[in-house]
Amino acid sequence: MPDPVTASGAPTGGTAVSPLLIRMQASDNVAIVANDGGLPPGTAIPGGPVLLDRIPQGHKVALVAIAAGAPVLRYGIPIGHALKDIPAGTWVHERLLQMPDARGLDGLPKATVQPAPLPPLEGYTFEGYRNADGSVGTRNILAITQTVQCVAGITDFAVRRIKAELLPRYPHVDDVVSLEHGYGCGVAIDAPDAVVPIRTLRHISLNPNFGGEVMVVSLGCEKLQPQRLLPPGSVAIADERQPAGADAVLDVVCLQDDAHVGFLSMVESIVRQAEGHLRRLNARRRETVPASELVVGVQCGGSDAFSGVTANPAVGFCTDLLVRAGASVMFSETTEVRDGIAQLTSRATTPDVADAMIREMAWYDAYLGRGGADRSANTTPGNKRGGLSNIVEKAMGSIVKSGTAPISNVLAPGEKLRAKGLTYAATPASDFICGTLQLAAGMNLHVFTTGRGTPYGLAAVPVIKVATRTELARRWHDLMDVNAGTIADGTATIEDVGWELFHLMLDVASGRRKTWAEHWKLHNALVLFNPAPVT
Ligand code: CA
Repeated sequence: MPDPVTASGAPTGGTAVSPLLIRMQASDNVAIVANDGGLPPGTAIPGGPVLLDRIPQGHKVALVAIAAGAPVLRYGIPIGHALKDIPAGTWVHERLLQMPDARGLDGLPKATVQPAPLPPLEGYTFEGYRNADGSVGTRNILAITQTVQCVAGITDFAVRRIKAELLPRYPHVDDVVSLEHGYGCGVAIDAPDAVVPIRTLRHISLNPNFGGEVMVVSLGCEKLQPQRLLPPGSVAIADERQPAGADAVLDVVCLQDDAHVGFLSMVESIVRQAEGHLRRLNARRRETVPASELVVGVQCGGSDAFSGVTANPAVGFCTDLLVRAGASVMFSETTEVRDGIAQLTSRATTPDVADAMIREMAWYDAYLGRGGADRSANTTPGNKRGGLSNIVEKAMGSIVKSGTAPISNVLAPGEKLRAKGLTYAATPASDFICGTLQLAAGMNLHVFTTGRGTPYGLAAVPVIKVATRTELARRWHDLMDVNAGTIADGTATIEDVGWELFHLMLDVASGRRKTWAEHWKLHNALVLFNPAPVT
């Protein structure tokens, strides 16, 4: 993990503030301005140039003269080449940079870095809900699976009734969640890539926070039939209604069944079925489990130049703590790690793991290519206003969330986690799609860093949001759970914030603390990744 090198000094040249610059590596020829509100022209940087331009907060300044065609170095790597001569003290923004081409996928180093094993971290526990399949939930939620969007309105109506009439009688159940989505019909269900949305929905139904209580609402005529979504054997139902040893019968309410006469009969049927599940969920109690039962998905969204300096390195430090504690951590967001592929393949535990990573990246390159796009489509106007010039710079700041542990497992989109340790779960970088796919993988806790600010949340798992800047943490004081801006302010270290996050995770996982998104009941829609055609 890069060690930020900060430079600050007394005000000079008539400026009112002490300039605070952050350079990630000694070889970098740019640094970012950390001061709230940026720095005016004429500011003298101690040991550096006098600023020629006003430099906004989070944006880069040339520390030395950079000749046309020379690399602009941040994180010790070229994030671009100068399109013209850049004098020292200039604001280095995207219009001055030519983005480097993506590295090819041939000849990558595979499992070449074999770091000394991280010392185990023992004795940390949380209070979780142990499931029959061995997984552990951090919340106790009844989820209602849907085969198709057509049933969303009626399911939502029924869920409102369940919450109003039944939930108060089952105080050990945290929530009732309708797994609404846009898939199920009007899609090329037999196209090879349809496996992605189908397995995603299947695996979300089996998320540890749902306690194995699977119930399905189906329309009847849809392409994604319940038996195709959850084939026999995919659901291990511990249900007193079914004889021991018998094949579990999926609990399905089918709206087109002849038995339903009128809307309220359908609603009644969903409410009645839900009650059995609520009763069993309500009988569950939290028990002390080792921290190794955490399954954490890390993600960023609304990134700025501080993401890769404060919040993401703190998350990376915490990732290492989790791996040392034997937990599972997933990092994702393919277009944001594509430019660091060589770092990642070299950190793979075996050449096979590296090959799996390359296979996922190649698949994604081809997917983007079919749509006439490439990885450069990732950066947003907000990223650029926040000081990120291009995807290379964004990627270097994003990858640090993965910490330093060896990468031991790779998941294709929608697959379920197979092993503990650090996993690269290939997903798009889209916040909603990444979160949805990490849910399918079995995530029971989500960590989300943001610099520009987003109120992102999920109904199924707690989302801990980490602000990259103190100014954002102050302004969004009742939306952000952790302020990593203290690292740029110089009042905390990466390690301090990493430990704070680790302890907060154990509290949130145990239900002792709620995240702000939970407090306000903010959650985004599930958004399936469907690379297959629609009809
Ligand atoms: Ca994202």
